[in-house]
Amino acid sequence: MEPVKTVTGQTKLLGVIGNPIEHSISPELHNTLSAVLENDIIYLPFRVDMNNIGTAIEGLIALGFLGFNVTIPFKEKVLKYLDKISWEAELIGAVNTIKITDCKLYGFNTDAEGFYRSFKRETGTDFKDKCVLVLGAGGAARAISIKVALEGASCVYIVNRSVEKAENICSVINKNINKVAKACGYDCMKGISSLSDVIINTTPLGMYPNTELSPINDSDFFEFFKENQIIVDIIYNPVKSRFLSNGEKLGSKTVNGLGMLFYQGIYAYEIWTGQIIESEVLDEVYNAYLKILENKD
Ligand code: NAP
Repeated sequence: MEPVKTVTGQTKLLGVIGNPIEHSISPELHNTLSAVLENDIIYLPFRVDMNNIGTAIEGLIALGFLGFNVTIPFKEKVLKYLDKISWEAELIGAVNTIKITDCKLYGFNTDAEGFYRSFKRETGTDFKDKCVLVLGAGGAARAISIKVALEGASCVYIVNRSVEKAENICSVINKNINKVAKACGYDCMKGISSLSDVIINTTPLGMYPNTELSPINDSDFFEFFKENQIIVDIIYNPVKSRFLSNGEKLGSKTVNGLGMLFYQGIYAYEIWTGQIIESEVLDEVYNAYLKILENKD
């Protein structure tokens, strides 16, 4: 499917601001979506210097953009420019999607919902009453831990090299959602691993080009985990990380990061356009999205 080609005075505008921005797949994903849905909308990438973030946002408002995505390093920096923020994004403390209505800015975090939709699609289940173990306590871990707590997880263990960062996320969950979160270092894995229904790697360990790495070494992995646990890695390059490959060897259900990346974009598009995207369209765009990723260097 070829993205929209003809831009006229009627064409509506979307975009993404970040720095760097050259490797973002969002323009291809959103322009493919607009082409499939026959929406006269174009999505453009903008590399913005840190010092110009406020001016850039004012420019997007002045030019009549429907909305825009925000990526690294601006996900927290844009908060002060927003008129309103969703409850989920407020808890996460970061937004990646902004809708502009009547020159007002509304902030959302679609990474969390993207993760959730992907998990449901791949596993056919959700987080209600499940015990979830999250490895890592960075930006992605924060969005995911908060989302699984909001979706009714019975416990959320956050294991991180710097325990203080894990404690910080736990205190947000325990104070605002439910008292289900506990933080610890990797030394407590042995005690908690068997209690968990879902184990999620949010660290970059195993990501290209360091594909030999994993947050849990192989012998510990096979000691700690069992086949009835769901193993998730939000890394999408490679599609099958060492962590996931070990999960497959156990016979566990596994989920990679491709779906999270896809669905965060789908949810953002729904927010901007108000359209709910039907499953046949989703399948068509998902196949196009896999081809886009294959052709990326
Ligand atoms: P981040 O904020 O930098 O957090 C990275 C986390 O990994 C931190 O908790 C860090 O621990 C931990 N970590 C890093 N190196 C480590 C090591 N050698 N040993 C143990 N722990 C280590 O990064 P992020 O934004 O959360 O992203 C993390 C990963 O998720 C990346 O691979 C990214 O590509 C992926 N991601 C995927 C999607 C998707 O749509 N699929 C979306 C977002 C992110 P410390 O706190 O101790 O430093």
